[in-house]
Amino acid sequence: MSRIVYVNGDFVPEEEASVSVFDRGFLFADAVYEVTSVLDGKLIDFDGHCARLDRSLSELGMSMPMDRDAFLEAHRELVARNDIGDGLIYLQVTRGAADRDFHYPADATQTVVMFTQAKPGLAENPQAQTGIKVISIPDLRWDRCDIKTTQLLYASMGKMKARAEGADDAWMVDDGKVTEGTSNNAYIVKDGTIVTRQLGNEILPGITRTAVLRFAREAQMKVEERAFTLEEARTADEAFVTSASSFVMPVVEIDGARVGAGAPGPIAKRLRDIYIEEMRRAAS
Ligand code: PLP
Repeated sequence: MSRIVYVNGDFVPEEEASVSVFDRGFLFADAVYEVTSVLDGKLIDFDGHCARLDRSLSELGMSMPMDRDAFLEAHRELVARNDIGDGLIYLQVTRGAADRDFHYPADATQTVVMFTQAKPGLAENPQAQTGIKVISIPDLRWDRCDIKTTQLLYASMGKMKARAEGADDAWMVDDGKVTEGTSNNAYIVKDGTIVTRQLGNEILPGITRTAVLRFAREAQMKVEERAFTLEEARTADEAFVTSASSFVMPVVEIDGARVGAGAPGPIAKRLRDIYIEEMRRAAS
């Protein structure tokens, strides 16, 4: 069955959807995106994703092409039209189509594209039982990783390198300190304290990160927002990552060395359970 996708106000079969070859998202990665998960047909943390979209756009001198309520309605319409129980909604906003020129065009109309990815059993991902393996790679990205742009080639390269080495993902390292995963925020746990890099230009302010840190603090867990070294990660009791699509995912191996007992740790497991339960309750 073909998906129904959203392009600039229209809901159309994916085969009929099109965007200009002059679109700056295509030519310059002059575009930002969001991925929102769907559980039981409901959106997880929609407002968080919408707020970050607004911020990403404004950092690039763009504004929201439509307001929060219109975005929410379009998300819900896509979920309904594609009969999504569990899955993801991808949303991309570009600066629009214009004759190729590095300068921003004065009068382009933004392009808005949305599509769904069905992921039955998203919250019961069996990887959460075994945990994932990561390798470390140098962080060679630009210095505005806080903006969620579509420049994802280095992330793809990292995931390909991880796969070639029998791992699931890569953690990026800058000046000896872990920044984040290729598509997630990175955490370690040592002596009961959860450590994750502080917000700044070097990492994406994860929407899942915000919620997970709030739940951790509400559960009286100790949290330190600071950079940690690869060495600290290798000798940690636990490690995990967070993202909209993986929620809280335990990391059991870094560069071939077991983290802690080499199995998902109790804090990661507990945070995953709390996150899924609380976010299901608050879903829109
Ligand atoms: N860091 C990077 C580089 C990402 O690409 C992502 C998600 O795609 C995240 C962190 C996690 O962000 P979120 O929790 O909002 O999905």
